[in-house]
Amino acid sequence: MSDVLRVQWTIIPATAPEPWLNCNRCRGATRFRTSGKIRVNANGKRLDAWLIYKCTSCDNTWNRPFLERRHVSTIDPHLLASLQANDPELSRRLAFEKWPRKLKVMHFDDAAVRKQVVSESARPTCRLEIVCVVPETTGLRVDRLLAAELHLSRSRIRSMQDAGHLAACPGGLRRSLRDGLRVTIDLRGVHDRDGIAFAATGREA
Ligand SMILES: [Zn+2]
Repeated sequence: MSDVLRVQWTIIPATAPEPWLNCNRCRGATRFRTSGKIRVNANGKRLDAWLIYKCTSCDNTWNRPFLERRHVSTIDPHLLASLQANDPELSRRLAFEKWPRKLKVMHFDDAAVRKQVVSESARPTCRLEIVCVVPETTGLRVDRLLAAELHLSRSRIRSMQDAGHLAACPGGLRRSLRDGLRVTIDLRGVHDRDGIAFAATGREA
């Protein structure tokens, strides 16, 4: 058995991104939050669909388009059914879709982390490898994720990186999480390595 512990963490963000938009009632830029509701408008065989956002100050609504003048025959039947049922899974997916870069958007860092062991290691664990699956956009930074999930301080995480014992690729510790991020930690000679390895697996004590 190898002395490398491999785990996969799936990160599920809790709060969808919130764009700053001009609210005509507030007369200025305010933050808009998804209502989770989808609005569909059929005009003959053409269909429009929007995700409805609300101004966080006054509840004024704004419709984010995702289908425009689409012929019904070109819409996947499954999607069509989800639209008509106001399926919460669909509205969540839409709320996490990427925004144009030029728009100011607030990203949040609250998230649930689901941990799976990909391959066990012999004891003691000498090396920990974490692969992150991030299906949706999140503002959660790599160092915050590691600190929270491994029960370590952020300064300790940073000093491990500075000493060459920890690498987060691509992008390093200060970036927001991206799908496919890989973190490797050299645990040789680390006094609390059993605790770190255990925390990475997500198992209950
Ligand atoms: Zn408003």
